[in-house]
Amino acid sequence: MDDQQRKAWLESRQRRKAVDSNSLARDLISGSRQALGQAITWVESSNPQDRQKALDLLGLTKLHQGNAIRIGITGVPGVGKSTFIEAFGLYLLEKGKRVAVLAVDPSSTKNKGSILGDKTRMNQLSIAENVFIRPSPSGGTLGGLARSTNESILLCEAAGYDVVLVETVGVGQSETMVKQSVDFFLLLMLSGAGDELQGIKRGIMELADLLVVTKADGDNIKAAKRAAAEYKNAMHLFPANDNQWIPTTATCSALDKTGLDDVWQQIVSFVNTTTINGWFEKNRRDQQIFWLERMVQTEILERFRSYDHFNELLEIAEKSIQNQEENAFVLAQKIVNEIFETYVNKHGTN
Ligand code: GDP
Repeated sequence: MDDQQRKAWLESRQRRKAVDSNSLARDLISGSRQALGQAITWVESSNPQDRQKALDLLGLTKLHQGNAIRIGITGVPGVGKSTFIEAFGLYLLEKGKRVAVLAVDPSSTKNKGSILGDKTRMNQLSIAENVFIRPSPSGGTLGGLARSTNESILLCEAAGYDVVLVETVGVGQSETMVKQSVDFFLLLMLSGAGDELQGIKRGIMELADLLVVTKADGDNIKAAKRAAAEYKNAMHLFPANDNQWIPTTATCSALDKTGLDDVWQQIVSFVNTTTINGWFEKNRRDQQIFWLERMVQTEILERFRSYDHFNELLEIAEKSIQNQEENAFVLAQKIVNEIFETYVNKHGTN
């Protein structure tokens, strides 16, 4: 291929790409679930061309983003997250809402497993119209996961979903990240036998806008109510929020479908309060600022990972740690110095 042919080929490829993103954007805005699925696949991809398409799409659908209520849902494995999401999702559908469910599972980045991936419990919800469910992507880094979650939320909004539920496992890593991506943070808790704070860190409780004690049915109703009261007392001791919202507790049973309305009313009340006092929009801007620097870090690291030279430097450094020759801090400094010498300073952007 000579230079001219190559230029023509590149231009036609560029045009094809533009058409792809444009037509997908149209389908997405018209609410196509398939288009949304494809768009999120681009978002989750580490292929630079897909990445570019994802960015194009985010740009093209910008005017349609931002209109959903973004709700984070966390709790230890077994607390009843997926059962709750199934029941709550169906409740919201009855209210005429379109519901998207995204999962964030940092453990799957190591194990290649994923929450929701094996879920057969969201039976009814997953086949319902007006619902979009996406398991957590497997592989990648926590930074990559954060980016794909944030971008996926925007795409769900562009596709007309009114409520985006972001499920995450309550094991410590992902809650802070999800808190910075959602408007409202829901913590599901069990009514423990004796130790009410068992299994969940106090730091995570402090993130909650609403704490819901699950499985409040059958013989467990009394214990659940008692636990909710105790948690409420514990939460009063936390520092006040700057949004005039006082976090509270509720009980619910996803099996009996009780307490769901109470949860929704609390969310509506939160949105009303914080919209009126201006915090809702301010919080979304603050979240963007929170992500800005982190995303630059993530992006730089990911780009360098495509250089063999960088990967070799990392490998050598890892060996050096294994052989107890040098510590990580010194090695990190050396790698960054070498990268700057080779790729940055050389071009005079010192
Ligand atoms: P997750 O790991 O947090 O997603 O929890 P699951 O939704 O998979 O639920 C864990 C277990 O608790 C399952 O056996 C569910 O059937 C049970 N469970 C979930 N919600 C309820 C509920 O409202 N009441 C009762 N009695 N059991 C529930």
